[in-house]
Amino acid sequence: MKPVLIDTHCHIHDRDTYNFALSRQQISEKFLKKHPDAAVSPEDFEPEKIIMRAHQNGVMQMICVGTSHEDSLFARDFAKKYRGDGIFWSYGIHPDEADRVVGQNISISDRLRPTGSKPSESAPITMGRAERVAEEMFAPLPVAIGEVGLDYREGAPRPGVAGKNNQIKLFENMLQLAQDQNLPVIFHVRDAFEDFFAVIKNFPKITGVVHSFSDSPENLKRALDAGFYIGVNGLATFASEIPLPPTERMLLETDAPFLTPRPFRGKINEPAHIKDICAYISATLGLTESEVEGRTTENARRLFRLTH
Ligand SMILES: [Zn+2]
Repeated sequence: MKPVLIDTHCHIHDRDTYNFALSRQQISEKFLKKHPDAAVSPEDFEPEKIIMRAHQNGVMQMICVGTSHEDSLFARDFAKKYRGDGIFWSYGIHPDEADRVVGQNISISDRLRPTGSKPSESAPITMGRAERVAEEMFAPLPVAIGEVGLDYREGAPRPGVAGKNNQIKLFENMLQLAQDQNLPVIFHVRDAFEDFFAVIKNFPKITGVVHSFSDSPENLKRALDAGFYIGVNGLATFASEIPLPPTERMLLETDAPFLTPRPFRGKINEPAHIKDICAYISATLGLTESEVEGRTTENARRLFRLTH
């Protein structure tokens, strides 16, 4: 297979930023309200154009990563619509959602039921028990469970100490789901590596990627020792203190629309910038771009079992 670039983590399906119901002009205005310094044009928000620019830059496959139940289903619908364009999706509930979701004691398998279908006859399932999810509930199938994990950074809407227990409960539930579904995991971990490694120890079969790694060399080593891949994105281009993993374990990602790489800071990020991140990594590590492209693409295909 010819090496192509893969964006293993983006949110181009995200309804908050890319509100398809709004007119193009309104979309720009909405985004500018949140990001007043951004230089945006309506074209930055058109899915077909975003995908076309990615393809023009050799970024042929993209994984739309879910951050809540609802957002994950948008990612699923987006992946279904743009299936032929190399769009994949993942199902995940972000740690920021923990208090909301765990508080409701929501059943994961009931949530994954297609809208309109009847709940199962079996005993009620709680957050503590993830059930095997029938394949028809996911169409197309997600390539991963994520982004899930722990985020102990201060500040709203992140919970304080009380929220940690809920985050851990939700994370364990998501890991159980991944294990039951035999899917890799996209981890989101911020200021929480001690608890992360403690939780992960109970799920020895789990594979995955630590997305947007931004921690110490010690924690990088521990993640690598645990067998995980490391997601590298635009952060590397403007936060050079963050240690880089070896390319054997590296995945490229944009986290679009966030974390725009240099020299495009101030603009909305998009999957096409994988090419620029690849160029930056190549120059930093003294490798050719095709070496970095080949290795990271092979890694992504292996982890997420992408075949086309
Ligand atoms: Zn993300």
